[in-house]
Parts: sequence; C-alpha cells; structure tokens
Amino acid sequence: MATVTRRCQNAPQCKIRFRISSQSRRVYCETCRPPRSKAGAVSSVPGSSGPSEPGPVEARALLDLAAFDRQDTVPGLIVLSVARDIDSGRVKPEQKAQAGQRMLALLAVALAGTTPARSADRLDEVTARREAKAAAAS
Ligand SMILES: [Zn+2]
Repeated sequence: MATVTRRCQNAPQCKIRFRISSQSRRVYCETCRPPRSKAGAVSSVPGSSGPSEPGPVEARALLDLAAFDRQDTVPGLIVLSVARDIDSGRVKPEQKAQAGQRMLALLAVALAGTTPARSADRLDEVTARREAKAAAAS
C-alpha cells in the first residue's frame, strides 16, 4: 500500500510528521487529531442511536432521581433506560404513552420513601401527579 508522509496541520505548535496511507485524508498527527467522540456524534445525525447527550425526558428523570440519590438503583436505571428510548425515538409514537406510564410508575418506585426536601412546592405537585398516574396505571 502506498504511503505518504504528512506534516501535522496543527502547525506551528506541532511539528510532527506522520506516515500514512495515501488514501487517508487524515491531516493531524495522532496527538492533535480531534476526538471522534460525543461532539461529532451530536452534530452529525440527530436522533441517531448510540452514546449522545441525554434527551429532555432522560435529563429530567435524571434530575428527579439524582435529587434523592436514586439514580443508581435498579428502578432508577430502568427509568433512565426507558427515558432514553423515548428520547431517541426508538419507542414508536403509538407506544409512547404506554412507555411513559411505565416510566412514571417505575419512577414512583425508584423514589418511594423519599420526601421532597428541595424546591418543595413544585416537586410536591409533580410527585403527587406522578403517584396518581402510577396508581392509575397499576
Ligand atoms: Zn500534531
């Protein structure tokens, strides 16, 4: 395979030359190469699966769980998993209501025994509504 020597584009800070396949379009050395991680995934295809920033439902559920340190419990983790499915669009629209209800029921389980200590009023209202929905779903 033909190889070429390229000079890292991150000049003048980086003076590294690297040897690379002539087919490759890489212009940075191993050190300067931008990470192929979250930033790229988010900017590419919205709603695609794979690791990315949490969607609105997951973010909110995580806040609720984290307020009581329940995010690492089994029901808490299931809640986040379902929330992620809802956010990602993996749950079909016609299944969303059901998935949401299941999630809220699990959230009630995850938060069982906790007493709203912070931002009491709003959280009280949310918890009451959540418990009512959970009761209706069971
Ligand atoms: Zn470099």
